[in-house]
Formats: sequence, structure tokens, C-alpha cells
Amino acid sequence: MDDCLFCKIASKEIPGEIVYEDDNVIAIKDVNPQAPIHLLLIPKEHYDSVLTVPAGNEIITQIHTVANRLALKYGIVDTGFRLVNNCGEDGGQTVLHLHYHLLGGRNLGWPPG
Ligand code: 5GP
Ligand code: ZN
Repeated sequence: MDDCLFCKIASKEIPGEIVYEDDNVIAIKDVNPQAPIHLLLIPKEHYDSVLTVPAGNEIITQIHTVANRLALKYGIVDTGFRLVNNCGEDGGQTVLHLHYHLLGGRNLGWPPG
């Protein structure tokens, strides 16, 4: 995708504060953090949203595995954390490249606004 913000960050065309990277996934610090720990877990391959990930594709499992590893690394396993995917307009998705938010470091409350 030529004009996709997260494709450009994943390819290092534009900078992001990368805290994790493997062959398929990067994690960056959110530029506008909503919690003491707010990371974005982003597949390197472009999907507009979770709706366009083909059935059986491993990327969602891989992202959850990375989330667990980062929760350990950032010390929020015992206190808890939230892994969020915003999908579509009502879901609050603003960047049309699949990503999950990993949030922790404070009590996040429920329900969301
Ligand atoms: P969404 O609203 O699509 O679920 O989440 C998009 C997230 O991307 C928002 O939390 C927003 O703060 C973050 N974001 C937008 N632009 C940038 C950027 O250029 N760099 C980083 N690191 N995060 C961004
Ligand atoms: Zn993209």
C-alpha cells in the first residue's frame, strides 16, 4: 500500500519508536498514549482491518503471542492489560491498517466510552 502510514512505519520509510520486531510483526509506541504503556502491534503485511484477514491466517495468533511477550517485558502481566482492536468507524478505527493496542499501567475502566 503506497499511502499507508503503518506500511511506511513498518518499512522504516517514516520513523516510529519500534520496541519489537520480527519477520511478521512490529510494535511501536503510540504517538498519543492513552495509558502509561500504550503500544501498537502491527503486521508488516497490509490488511485494511481484521475483517480482511483470510480465515486460517496466522497473523492474529502471532500478534497475541507478541502481546504476551511485551506484557511480560513491560511488567504488566500481574497488574493486567488490555489488547484492543478497533474496527471500522463505530469501533474507532482511524488508521486503515490492521493493528492492536496494548494498554496497561493503570486501571482502564469499563465500559469504554
Ligand atoms: P485506531 O484509532 O486506528 O485504533 O488507532 C490508531 C492509533 O495510531 C492511535 O492511537 C494514534 O494515536 C496512533 N497514531 C497515529 N499516527 C501515528 C504515528 O504517526 N505514529 C505512531 N507511533 N502512532 C500513531
Ligand atoms: Zn498498510
